Amino acid sequence: MKFAADRMLGKLAKWLRIMGQDVIYGPHLTGYGLIRAARQEDRLILTRDGRLKQKQPPDYIFVESDRYREQLRQVVKACGLEPLAQAFTRCLECNAVLEPRAKDAVKALVPPYVASTQERFFACPRCNRVYWPATHHERMLEELRTLALLETRN
Ligand SMILES: [Zn+2]
Repeated sequence: MKFAADRMLGKLAKWLRIMGQDVIYGPHLTGYGLIRAARQEDRLILTRDGRLKQKQPPDYIFVESDRYREQLRQVVKACGLEPLAQAFTRCLECNAVLEPRAKDAVKALVPPYVASTQERFFACPRCNRVYWPATHHERMLEELRTLALLETRN
């Protein structure tokens, strides 16, 4: 499943990427720009724009809340996503799928403390940003677990 999020949904886009979902997002993604991008790449539109439907868009989800947690719940539910299944597999900045990297290959690119305490690293093939499990990672995981629990209860 691939998504195109309108420019009002930055935080939702980021959280879907944390879940490993393929989401394009940017300032150009509004109105007809959003519709064009979604058509070109066969993406499901996520929008807060109530007037978008007058522009005859392809498939879309009208996101009801302006709070990201509720937005995320709506999309997870509507699309049957599993919040933890592919978590942390995608670059949060540019949406590319991360690749595993040997510690030696990234040692010079991360803080010394990280290099000496972490064993598993991933990097983005597009922007070269290096990722590793860290404190913020734990907080994100907690958030996704909560979301997954809520989904199984409903
Ligand atoms: Zn990247």
